Amino acid sequence: MSDESGQTAISAGNRMASGDQSQDVPQIDPLAYARHGRRWIGTVPSKAFERMAGLATLNDVAVELAFEIDDHGRIHMRGGGKAEARIVCQRCLEDVAVTVESSLDVRVMSSEQRAQEIARDYDTMVVDARTLSVAELVEDDLILSLPELGCGAGDDCPHRLPTEFPDEQSADDGESAREDNPFAVLESLKSKLSSE
Ligand SMILES: [Zn+2]
Repeated sequence: MSDESGQTAISAGNRMASGDQSQDVPQIDPLAYARHGRRWIGTVPSKAFERMAGLATLNDVAVELAFEIDDHGRIHMRGGGKAEARIVCQRCLEDVAVTVESSLDVRVMSSEQRAQEIARDYDTMVVDARTLSVAELVEDDLILSLPELGCGAGDDCPHRLPTEFPDEQSADDGESAREDNPFAVLESLKSKLSSE
């Protein structure tokens, strides 16, 4: 599932905390990876992406992340995730297939304040634990990559409803008199019969 043994990054604490979940949902220690200039390559099960669940039906996500320590001793993470998903198009309400793909080039920080200090020069990601789910590292970006409308940007939706409907008023004009009184024909027949 993972590459050069992502397993070594799983801390004992995490294994205890989440039991069998830690076997299915890969965990990673970005600092340890960065110190060794390693990559994490693998597949993350869709169930690990809890916030995505309300927005799209996601397939498993292929993830590739490269870590290194930059010149200032910060964790530099590059890479992303890619998956097929199904979403409900906001134009036609059809269920449509989309590809979601994230692309990251960030400094992974443990403190919001320190992230702010370099925010002008770098994209940053603040994490609140040393070991965390690989899904956490790519989920925000995957969510941002969801197409807003579904079938396509702008007017690309092939199932889009017509924006202008025929003018019902004018279409009706010729017929309305007769339709208003369906008994008119019957009445005229009656009077014919009775007069004979
Ligand atoms: Zn659509």
